[in-house]
Amino acid sequence: MSALSVAVELPRVSGPTLLVDLSAIAENTRTFTARTDAALMAVVKADGFGHGAVDVARTALAHGATQLGVTSIEEALALREAGLRAPALSWLNQVDADFESAVSADVDLAVPSHQHLEAILRGVAGRTRARVHLQLDVGMARDGAPPDEWAQLCRAARQAEQRGLLDVVGVMGHLGCADDPTDPSNAAGRRRFAWGLETARATGLRPRTRHLAATSATLTDPRTHHTMCRVGAGLVGIDPSRTVRLRPALTLTAPVVSVRRVRAGTPVGYGHTWTAPTATNLGLLPLGYADGLPRAASGRAEVMVRGRRASIVGLFSMDQIVVDLGEDAVPPGEPVTIFGPGDAGEPTVAEWAGWASTIEHEIVTGIGARVRRDVRTEHTSGLRSMR
Ligand SMILES: *Cc1c(COP(=O)(O)O)cnc(C)c1O
Repeated sequence: MSALSVAVELPRVSGPTLLVDLSAIAENTRTFTARTDAALMAVVKADGFGHGAVDVARTALAHGATQLGVTSIEEALALREAGLRAPALSWLNQVDADFESAVSADVDLAVPSHQHLEAILRGVAGRTRARVHLQLDVGMARDGAPPDEWAQLCRAARQAEQRGLLDVVGVMGHLGCADDPTDPSNAAGRRRFAWGLETARATGLRPRTRHLAATSATLTDPRTHHTMCRVGAGLVGIDPSRTVRLRPALTLTAPVVSVRRVRAGTPVGYGHTWTAPTATNLGLLPLGYADGLPRAASGRAEVMVRGRRASIVGLFSMDQIVVDLGEDAVPPGEPVTIFGPGDAGEPTVAEWAGWASTIEHEIVTGIGARVRRDVRTEHTSGLRSMR
């Protein structure tokens, strides 16, 4: 038997793997459609918050979402290339972006400034009518037109509409503090949005899609719903308002590479920040901060090994972490759960966010490219490997 055939016959232990459970996305989508009479836009920016934009989009559309939202035109075109035909809105582009390709692919565009309006009109050059959503800053000074430029933007858009160059199908805003429903800036944001709609109407615009709410506002304040809610985090199981139980969709696992027995007093990892207080067994896992485990969680984070919590000890390395297994020496290849939905007591993404002093969004969007992705589809328990 040649060396090659021996290698091929060895059982293959897979490395770090991120499992995406689409039935969780389906369940979360239904939670949102049940909470509003408005239309639901599935926000699938940043590769569907790290869950796979096309998979999240397809699943959400199958369970009641009717529109798709992304930041860049490139993200929208990728959805089109995957065969998704639902209305899709792109809301963050430079003025020299490829608006022509967007309009040709039937992608709606947010317009946050007069310069963007001009650039879109130049891009389509009268050949097709662009569909646009005028975007108002309702109080976070981030994206969207400042209020003192709004009336002029509405007038210019109305003129272009009357010349047959575009259709203003929507007006949008975004709240900066909706995760805290008691924050007074939410009422100010709602009022500014209402003012923006009145101003648009006064110039003759009749935007049929009016949208202000993202996940938190959708869950906590029906006054923000208008005709559509734009929901991203909630679909993947994250509720920043902490008012509803949603279902996390990700499980990250990795096999133990090796186990070593160490004496009390053995320092571990870079900087020797942790020293074994007693004799113990240390397990090595082949993933680190390059794979999205935040180094800031060093000294706090845990994993689940054979149904028990175990501490990650020492500083996280780029490609590896060390787990204190105590007396549970497990064999190499033993699967370890880094995080999951929490059903079996394993750490959750929310716990990881706490350990790293960040938010769940940053954990789920940060899983690195070399982690293998498997998808558990809705109707079978079968797995589909992304690569
Ligand atoms: C990301 C984003 C959303 C989705 O927000 P979630 O809180 O994740 O639902 C909605 N609207 C805009 C403009 C966004 O940038």
